[in-house]
Amino acid sequence: GERVLTAATVDGLAAQSMPLCMQQLHTGLKRDHKLKHQGRLQFGLFLKGSGMSLEEHTLFFQREFTRIMTSEQFNKQYSYSIRHMHGKEGKRASYTPYNCMKIIMGNPPQSGVEHHGCPYKHYDDQNLSALLGKLKIGDSADRDAIMRLKKEGNFQLACAKQFEVQHPLASTVAGVNMDGVGNHPNAWFNASVSYHQ
Ligand code: SF4
Repeated sequence: GERVLTAATVDGLAAQSMPLCMQQLHTGLKRDHKLKHQGRLQFGLFLKGSGMSLEEHTLFFQREFTRIMTSEQFNKQYSYSIRHMHGKEGKRASYTPYNCMKIIMGNPPQSGVEHHGCPYKHYDDQNLSALLGKLKIGDSADRDAIMRLKKEGNFQLACAKQFEVQHPLASTVAGVNMDGVGNHPNAWFNASVSYHQ
């Protein structure tokens, strides 16, 4: 794919075009300067799936992690697993980015410590509502519609509705592929990036 996602562009693109699950991982990484194992996998494979190269992925994580550890520690503990995700180590298998179902059915994050998972599934109503409040979703009817779907357990529909609200008339914009929005974080991201192009 296109190499729009780099260590230099990731912060802006996170705010503009990542679904909530990946925004939470991005925010957690920027705040804690580290991510727990499941978060590194969920976010790392998403970044890879969004076209971030091994070099940029390493650069981005190194920049954050070395705020709290030395480069030697980072290289020793983390760079192998990043290369592994890109199929450059071990069996050289290429690991597939997680779809929504896998994230939703996976282990819930330990609150305050881990940032993986799906906010629609794993956050309580109050937390999710506060999170939506921080996004620029001005219309309270839109926020209510999203919250209603979440409360009904329609997590993926709630996420697709969030996309719709934040990307008005997306399905009519040339070059925007809506297939998979609400089923895969990478589809959400790709559709949003092309919407904003
Ligand atoms: Fe992420 Fe999918 Fe949950 Fe949306 S529904 S927040 S894309 S896991």
